[in-house]
Amino acid sequence: MKLILLGAPGAGKGTVAKILHQIDGSVQISTGDILRGAVRDSTELGKKAEAFMKAGDLVPDDLIMGIMEERLAKPDCEKGFLLDGFPRTIPQAEALDELLPKVGHKLDMAVNLNVPREELLNRLTTRRTCSNPECQAIYNIKSKPPKKEGICDICGSPVIQRDDETEEAISKRLDTYEEKTAPLVDYYKKKGLLLNVTATSSEGVVNTIKERLNQS
Ligand code: AMP
Repeated sequence: MKLILLGAPGAGKGTVAKILHQIDGSVQISTGDILRGAVRDSTELGKKAEAFMKAGDLVPDDLIMGIMEERLAKPDCEKGFLLDGFPRTIPQAEALDELLPKVGHKLDMAVNLNVPREELLNRLTTRRTCSNPECQAIYNIKSKPPKKEGICDICGSPVIQRDDETEEAISKRLDTYEEKTAPLVDYYKKKGLLLNVTATSSEGVVNTIKERLNQS
């Protein structure tokens, strides 16, 4: 399947992508994960992106398109891809429209995960992530704590709060989402590619996506 996962930070895009990957091997492509890896490795990209990310601002479109041109041309995308956190602006969506035919792909749909802002704030302030870049398992100190406090159940690495998951940065990220990314919902609706889902549970979202794909 070739999907865009739209939705605010904390809407559950990453979790849904991980479940969908297990169904048919479609690769999860998270620009946030790629950028965090670049910051960690202090690459040129990482140095350019770091300050924007820490402040909860978007990284400039040209840097993001550079990443995506390279990533979508890789052979593993033949199995399908799940775009998680990209596109985030109308110019990125327009650039993606130009890029996809060049790399021989066509989108199945754009899925919008709807979650109220209060719930997003609650989820993000209590979210914790495994610090091991190969693992990145997601926990929640209220609803899904690791079995041993601060330690990943899967790989044993420390479980941490991301730099951009302080209350201030989260609030900024949600405002940025409303201003720059929410207009994409209309963009994909006009193209007839939108599936709007109320994201109460990841399994519910996955079932709705599977039903829609089976219909088409
Ligand atoms: P995420 O993990 O998707 O919430 O992304 C974390 C941060 O990475 C965002 O707050 C942005 O600073 C940056 N980022 C990720 N994806 C994009 C994108 N498509 N365009 C611009 N900035 C991005």
